[in-house]
Amino acid sequence: MTVPSITLNSGATIPQLGFGVFQVPPDQTAAVTAQALEVGYRHIDTAQMYQNEAGVGEAIRSSGLPREELFITSKLNNGFHRPDDARREFDATMARLGLDRIDLFLIHWPLPTRYDGDYVSTWKVLSELVADGRAASVGVSNFQPAHLERIIGETGVVPAVNQVEVHPYFANEEVRAASHEHGIAIEAWSPIAQGAVLDDEVLGKVAAAHGKTVSQVTLRWHVERGDIVFPKTTRVERMRENLDIFDFSLTPDEVATISGLDRGEAGRRGPNPDTFDYIPD
Ligand code: NDP
Repeated sequence: MTVPSITLNSGATIPQLGFGVFQVPPDQTAAVTAQALEVGYRHIDTAQMYQNEAGVGEAIRSSGLPREELFITSKLNNGFHRPDDARREFDATMARLGLDRIDLFLIHWPLPTRYDGDYVSTWKVLSELVADGRAASVGVSNFQPAHLERIIGETGVVPAVNQVEVHPYFANEEVRAASHEHGIAIEAWSPIAQGAVLDDEVLGKVAAAHGKTVSQVTLRWHVERGDIVFPKTTRVERMRENLDIFDFSLTPDEVATISGLDRGEAGRRGPNPDTFDYIPD
């Protein structure tokens, strides 16, 4: 099973399919991530907010895999946007992961209604991490077009990725297009809508036509649109299933049919980044 890679605007390459660990309980993360690596995943997406970076670090070490074969992403938590906090908490992430260089580090949410609307100084800290060689690439998550314009306009530094909610019920085309205009790759979070698309009749028909599951055709739709995905599961058979999407293709009509399931704003599973202001305790 060969997972294709995408070249980011930083020059780094990222496996287009990875493994997400949101909602994997911290005490199970080392074992679950180790299993994902065993099955063949080489790209892991974690975050300070998930409280399971240490488990990811443990799995990396116990895998014995060469560091250069792995692509590891984490994200700055919402309470740490002030520059000194961001620098300190990046160090804490690296200690928990046991890494001296991370492949990708993101601002998790823009929080435009917090910090006096300043996410630009946070973005400057992330660019320092690249200059220091501690992050190979940096990017953002949940940034709307206006947020992208602002950080690029004020710093001249273009994020490598924008990790945003995308799935058949929420295609998020405006944000995808605005990101692409800047050469920013899209990472599609909740790619199977946390399971909400799995009973969809239209997707069921496409899946049956290929002898694949709904999860597989949905992930394939993302990949054919050029986005990066990292479905989450704690079950080994689903890890294998979600990885097994590179031996078939969708027709252009099937891609269009799946894209036609978009419900716009009503299709969101997560919060709207323009108003989301959650800061964990
Ligand atoms: P997903 O769309 O990946 O769906 C995960 C859910 O689907 C779980 O309940 C899982 O259950 C189930 N599932 C997975 N594979 C299958 C399958 N083949 N058949 C049936 N059910 C399946 O949702 P996530 O929200 O976890 O998104 C994926 C990743 O995106 C996260 O882990 C995280 O890395 C990232 N993310 C980022 C966000 C951000 O703000 N930047 C926000 C949300 C997610 P089970 O475990 O029981 O198999």
